[in-house]
Amino acid sequence: VVVLERRRVDIAGAQWHNGVLPWQFEVAGLEPPVPPEREARGAGVTHVFTPDGTHGVTVRNAPTVRADMALLGNRLRALATGAGAEMVDRVSTLEVDVDPTGRIRALDVTRGPAEGVGPATTHRLEADLFVDASGRQGVLRRHAPALARWCPQVRGDELCSASDHHVRIDDPDGAKRFLERYGAAPGQSVTIVGPHGGWSTRAVTVSEDLDHAAVLVGCLADGRYSTGPRMLDATRSELAWLGESLSGGTGVIPLRRPFARITAPGLALVGDAACQVFPAHGSGIGLGLIAGRLLADATSDAADCGDEATVWNYQRDYQHNYGGLLAAFDAFRRMSTALGSAGVTRMVSAGLLSEDMTRAGLDQRWQAPDPADLPSTIAKLARVPGVAAKMVPMLARGQLLRGVGARHPDQPDVAALARWDATVVRLLGPQPH
Ligand SMILES: Cc1cc2nc3c(=O)[nH]c(=O)nc-3n(C[C@H](O)[C@H](O)[C@H](O)COP(=O)(O)OP(=O)(O)OC[C@H]3O[C@@H](n4cnc5c(N)ncnc54)[C@H](O)[C@@H]3O)c2cc1C
Repeated sequence: VVVLERRRVDIAGAQWHNGVLPWQFEVAGLEPPVPPEREARGAGVTHVFTPDGTHGVTVRNAPTVRADMALLGNRLRALATGAGAEMVDRVSTLEVDVDPTGRIRALDVTRGPAEGVGPATTHRLEADLFVDASGRQGVLRRHAPALARWCPQVRGDELCSASDHHVRIDDPDGAKRFLERYGAAPGQSVTIVGPHGGWSTRAVTVSEDLDHAAVLVGCLADGRYSTGPRMLDATRSELAWLGESLSGGTGVIPLRRPFARITAPGLALVGDAACQVFPAHGSGIGLGLIAGRLLADATSDAADCGDEATVWNYQRDYQHNYGGLLAAFDAFRRMSTALGSAGVTRMVSAGLLSEDMTRAGLDQRWQAPDPADLPSTIAKLARVPGVAAKMVPMLARGQLLRGVGARHPDQPDVAALARWDATVVRLLGPQPH
């Protein structure tokens, strides 16, 4: 196995802090993060508010833990090199050699010129299987003719612009007053949903010792709302007790359900390149790690690990296990986009975001409303008919979509895949505008 990386290898991948789920590491066959890779603070209690300051719900025992992605990346790279993988970093260009059948056969890889690397050198790498884990741009994906119709450009309203920063607290009394205003304690998170469009968030977590805060902001990247960096600036202006940024990062995350087809002869897509991200909040770490595990399991014993039927098994296993769940939460993403800030405010103010449902969403699980709660849910919906008109169909679509992953075709069959994808599209309904 050879890992090709454009940056210096020690700064590859996400370099900020991410909320991750221990259960997803276990499914991927990895030890969940422990300190210092896992932050001791920040997990546990999340208070959810609307932009006008109305309290929606407080989630206790939140399942998410915060991982230092730089340390997690170091651990994963050490595991990979320990298992024999070779790292080639500062790759400046990739020439993709596709054979007449459309299968990628080789890459001509230029490394450097770069400090510590020296002048540019070019090497040819031939392999049975190429894995595109290059992030949302999918640098190999676009060279596979078989994927052209399946992996369209992801639209701006299906992308999230996000920033996550650790910021020093200059004025601890100001931080205390902020927490008091929201009924929160140090170490807990205050999350505002819908500040810039229905699908948007601002989460501030003040450390227990009032030394620093984690600020996570994100909204759709279609130019109608804001951007992660602008939301971060606005947060720092509004919360004047925040000081300079200690570390952090900014990026764009695909939010749509995974592409229906994520394999082609000689090629498999993993991570953001496959849109393996949880649509309701743009989390891709755990789902990408699980994809890596499923791909390894499907291919490692095969005589030709890039054979179409072999890589299809990875695609099938991913869609069987997660395709329905992610399509269901794509319905939720579309609903929150369609509701807009005002609609999300009405939904949360009406008490329609229960603690159990919010916790399930954070845990990346679908949970239908408890039948015992139905009379009170119906009464709440009746008070906000405009919200009900979007939320009830979403819940119905989500229930149907949840099971649709299992119907992904077992064997390579592009016509059957097209029928499956058409079913998912039909159940999802129209895109919000
Ligand atoms: C601000 C922010 C906050 C986020 N918060 C969370 C969170 O709390 N929880 C969560 O689960 N997810 C979160 N995400 C999403 C998560 O970070 C991504 O889903 C995840 O990093 C995707 O991993 P990946 O390996 O697929 O792609 P990437 O992390 O994008 O890594 C791709 C790698 O490929 C390299 N590369 C690209 N092109 C080439 C090329 N031509 N040649 C060689 N190498 C190349 C890049 O340099 C990079 O190192 C967040 C994202 C952002 C931007």
